[in-house]
Parts: sequence; C-alpha cells; structure tokens
Amino acid sequence: MARAIPFFEQVNQNFDKAASFTDYSFGLLQQIKICNGVYHMTFPIKRDDGSIETIHAWRAEHSHHKLPTKGGIRYSTLVNEDEVMALAALMTYKCAVVDVPFGGAKGGVQIDTKEYSVNELEHITRRYTYELINKNFIGPGIDVPAPDFGTGEREMAWIFDTYTAMAPEKLEALACVTGKPISQGGVHGRREATGRGVYLGLREACRFAEDMEQLGLTPGLEGKSVAVQGFGNVGYHTAKFLQEGGAIIVGLAEYAGTIYNPRGLDVNQVAEYREENGSILNFPDATTYEDPSRVLEFACDILVPAALENQITGENMHRIQARIIGEAANGPITSEASDFLKKKGVMIIPDIYLNAGGVTVSYFEWLKNLSHVRFGRMGKRFEESVHRSLLYTIERATGRKFPEEEMKRIVQGPGEEDLVNSGLEDTMIVAYNEIRDTQKRWGEAVDLRTAAFINAIHKITRSYTELGIFP
Ligand code: NAD
Repeated sequence: MARAIPFFEQVNQNFDKAASFTDYSFGLLQQIKICNGVYHMTFPIKRDDGSIETIHAWRAEHSHHKLPTKGGIRYSTLVNEDEVMALAALMTYKCAVVDVPFGGAKGGVQIDTKEYSVNELEHITRRYTYELINKNFIGPGIDVPAPDFGTGEREMAWIFDTYTAMAPEKLEALACVTGKPISQGGVHGRREATGRGVYLGLREACRFAEDMEQLGLTPGLEGKSVAVQGFGNVGYHTAKFLQEGGAIIVGLAEYAGTIYNPRGLDVNQVAEYREENGSILNFPDATTYEDPSRVLEFACDILVPAALENQITGENMHRIQARIIGEAANGPITSEASDFLKKKGVMIIPDIYLNAGGVTVSYFEWLKNLSHVRFGRMGKRFEESVHRSLLYTIERATGRKFPEEEMKRIVQGPGEEDLVNSGLEDTMIVAYNEIRDTQKRWGEAVDLRTAAFINAIHKITRSYTELGIFP
C-alpha cells in the first residue's frame, strides 16, 4: 500500500495536476498554492471539576487574494495544522469554483465534543474567539468563520456574541461569522445549504444522458440507490433532499455504525429514531453493522461520504461498488483510491464543487448582515402587486377567472428562503456546467476534480491580474 500522503500535500498534488493544463508561470502558481498565514494557539480552560486543561487550536488563512477569507471551524480530535491548512486551501479553490468572492480559511479545535459539557464548550469557543480577535484573525472584512464538523449554529452564536462584546461600536459586526441562528442574524436556508447543494450538484450531474450511459445508469435521480456516510448537518440534509428528489436511501452511517435496507430507509424516521434513542443503530426494519465504514461498501448507484477526510483509501477501495461518488465531506478519498476508482470508471464529483453550497449561502448571509436588511423585504410586496395586476389584465382579456388558490400561488413574491434557494440552485448548476465543459474540452486526460481545479486556477489568476499584481 502507498504511504499515507499528508492532506495538504494531497490538495497540492491535485492543484499541480490541474496547473499542468495551464501555462501560468511557476511563481504565480506557487503564490496561489501557498498558505498565506497559520496561527497555532494554545490556551487553558477550567473544566467543570476544577481541573485545568490545555487546548490546541488553529486558524489558517490560505489565500488573501480576496478578502475576507472564509471557512468553517471544526471541533475534532483529528484536527492538526496540516489538516487545517489543507481545508483552508480547499476553501480557496471552492470559493473560486462557485464565484464566491472570498479567500479560503479554516479553523480547528482539537477536542472531542462528546467529552465536554455545554458549559465547557462555550468556554472553549469564547476563548478561541478571543484569541482570534487578539491576533486579528476574525472580522467582517478580515476572516469570517462558519460551522463545520462538530460545530453548528450554537457555536456561531457564541462567536458572534464574543466578537460584538469586544467591538460594540462596529456597525458591521454581525458579519463576523456566518451560520448563525436566524434570531442572531442568520439567513433562512443556511442550515440545510450544504446538503441542498450536494443534492443539486448530484441532480445536475445525473441529468446528462450520455454521462449516465457511460456509467450504465439512466438519467435522473429517480430510483437511484444511495448510501450516505455521516448523518450530521451535511449527511442528514443530503439524504433528505435526495430522498425527496426520488432517490432510494439504502444505507446511512454515523460514527457508531451503519444501518442498511436495500428497499430504502425513511430519512426522517431515522432522524426521529435517533432523537429518541441517541443513535441510528438498531433502527427497526434495517440491518445494523457496528462499523461506520461498512456503509461505503454497499451495492448502490451513488455513494455520498459526508463525514470526514480519508475514508476511501487503498485499504477499502477494492470493495467500493458505487458508480458515482459525491464528495460531500472534504477530502474523503485519498489520491491512491481516487486514481484506482477513476480507472474503474467511477464518476467522482469533487468536494471543491459539491459541498460549496454552505459557503455560497454563507456569502448570502454575509451580504445580508452588511446590508442590514432581510432578502425580499424591499421587493416582495411590489412584485406581488405587479403579478396581481398582470393576472387581472389576463382575466379581463380572456374572461377567465383564476381560482383564489391559483391566484395566490402565482402572485406570491419571493421571501428570503426562496431567494436564497434560488441563488444556490443557480450557483450549483452554473458551476457544474463550467466544470463539465472544461472536462469535455480536455477529454480522458482530465477528470471532474482536475477540471474544477483548472477553473479555480483561471479564476484566481484573473483576480491577481485584475489587482495588477501579476501581468
Ligand atoms: P457534523 O458534525 O454535523 O456531522 C458529522 C457526522 O459524521 C456525524 O453524524 C458523525 O456521527 C459522523 N461521523 C463522524 N465520524 C464518523 C465515521 N468515522 N464514520 C461515519 N460517520 C462518522 O459535521 P458536518 O457539518 O455535517 O460536516 C461533515 C463533512 O462535511 C465534513 O467533512 C465537513 O468539512 C464537510 N462540510 C461541511 C459544511 C457545513 O456547512 N457544515 C460545509 C462544507 C463541507
């Protein structure tokens, strides 16, 4: 088996492969690739039992070619400097792929959230934020965190509260972090955005009959069998939207194990079951395996790793049966496994495109926070009155009276969630077609991941030349 390549090196290998399909200078490519700043902090916290513990945490800002930088904060025992830099780099390329005007960043705190009380987690989060403020690693125009593995709206609210307490005079302080609860300046649709984006990306990929034919599949999501690893924010929402879109969810996994039913699992029922029992294991009418990796090996059309990196490796790649792998997690397939699966004809839809729904809607939240107005507030009623007058004109011209319900449905102007979802849908469709076009242009030599990196390199280069930094 090949040696395990560090995560950041794997990202850079993907970058180098794509760079060989461009003719930019070595110096420019180095500047894009390098991590612009990384801050390793340690701080003490007092545990509930009175003992003192030292916490290790990081924030990496990979690229300052656009500001602010943007990226999630991860709480996991596996967090280290290499991982944070790799994830920050992926954020740079991801933002470019979906035309979100940010540089990439990532944060991580090396803890197992299950080992700490809510009170202790709050202390850790507030202290981490304080450290970021102190070193100028957070701010609406500097670096804007978001949720990632092990964090969610609650942690983002603590970050926001700490930041505003330290900078009460800043009018734009609300935009210092995204993924906040709605009551604290969040945007409708952010919670489910990454999973919705994964669904939209898979739907778009499955739309092309010629691509599906090569995989021995029919076009469309309808009836496709899907296995999802990870049942957190991304995994749950991905499974839910795919099921609503007509796919059959045959396998689901979280850290404790896997459940399987080839006839299909009802995602909402599994979520309710977990709420009551604390785990998805032993869900009725399903086979349980106490191995969270077992889910990767089921016979299915689409496999969605939505937990952590390095899940599909040289060790298990021979047992993967899916025809399409949608990388909802960041870096779930090692380079070795990726090469092997590509040779086997598996279609891999890369992370730097597929899970970009989160940062896309985070961008919308940031815009909302800076403008201090809810999307749709200015135009909703106006649009409704225009639609209504149009329908009255049609009624008068045709003599046909629209039933009240139909009238209401057609007239309704878009609310915040409609606008956010529509912006997300457009983003995912446009970006997929750009990547597919690049892939088709180069043919066999380029897969979707390399095509996405090529597009990212062109877009980042353009912003450097626009700044006049490189000719
Ligand atoms: P989360 O903390 O909400 O959920 C993680 C899930 O993974 C949990 O269900 C956990 O039980 C499961 N898990 C942990 N270890 C596992 C293992 N070994 N095998 C199987 N399941 C395991 O995290 P999330 O926000 O859903 O993030 C998941 C992935 O998606 C990460 O790679 C993250 O970087 C990526 N991502 C998240 C977002 C976002 O908006 N949250 C955006 C882009 C990418």
